[in-house]
Amino acid sequence: MKVTMFLFSLISLFSFSAHAAEYAIEQVKDNVYRFTAGNYHSVFVTTEQGTIVTDPISPDAASYLRQYLSQKKLLPVSYMLYSHNHTDHVSGGEQLASDKTVVIAHQQAARDIVFTRLPTRQPDITFNDELTVTSCSTQVLLAYHGENNGKGSVSYLIQPAGVLHVVDWIVVGRLPYKDLPGYDIQGMISSTKAVLNRYDFEVFVGGHADIGTRADIEHYLAYLEALYSAVRDGMLAGKTLAELQQSITLEQFSDLKMYNEWLADNIKGVYQSLVDDSYFNFRADLDTT
Ligand SMILES: [Zn+2]
Repeated sequence: MKVTMFLFSLISLFSFSAHAAEYAIEQVKDNVYRFTAGNYHSVFVTTEQGTIVTDPISPDAASYLRQYLSQKKLLPVSYMLYSHNHTDHVSGGEQLASDKTVVIAHQQAARDIVFTRLPTRQPDITFNDELTVTSCSTQVLLAYHGENNGKGSVSYLIQPAGVLHVVDWIVVGRLPYKDLPGYDIQGMISSTKAVLNRYDFEVFVGGHADIGTRADIEHYLAYLEALYSAVRDGMLAGKTLAELQQSITLEQFSDLKMYNEWLADNIKGVYQSLVDDSYFNFRADLDTT
């Protein structure tokens, strides 16, 4: 009985610590900060005209960040810039925004937020290709590079700090999520190439996992391309999903976190996209029996 009680109190202690460690704020560079809520990250930028935030993440996370800004005597949120339409990143916007906050999203993300009655502040301004938010000497360039994850998912380039922020479709230091739910894998590859070709930046901040460099993004892109090619070529050679999961190892990427846990799921995700989006099961040149 005593042992059970002791174990119970240990478990309680650990769960309290885990909760306390759920939120974190760290300076990335100059006036750019990363906000962490569990496995999620967003970014905020302080200026003398107001604070620019990206995703609110959730109602609890958003109210935590609002309290943090006020405790630190930072200015209220002047702009809130949604990364895409998914509920696990953009819920709770009303907890962070005031009447004076301008909320901006890509028009496809905004349409989905309205259609699905997502519980957050609806965007006030939408855009199609790109939009620059200027506040004092800070500029945030939002740009759409085509489909990649969810609807209307954009990149953020924050200047003059030189910080690039992308949510979900670029992840550094870790494999992409499980079986790639809701991902357009070809779009992830082409969008990642687009930001690498287009922007000079010093630091990358992901919506999940690590902060990194251009080299980390290049490593991630190489992984996506190697994964896609291996699954596609295996399917063209008539292999089943189980055979692909057995034979594809991509060991040169074993440094990435969740390599052991998620590689088989990543293979399944590409396999499913080749069936669902590219209709490999209708290909006359393939034996799909
Ligand atoms: Zn995500």
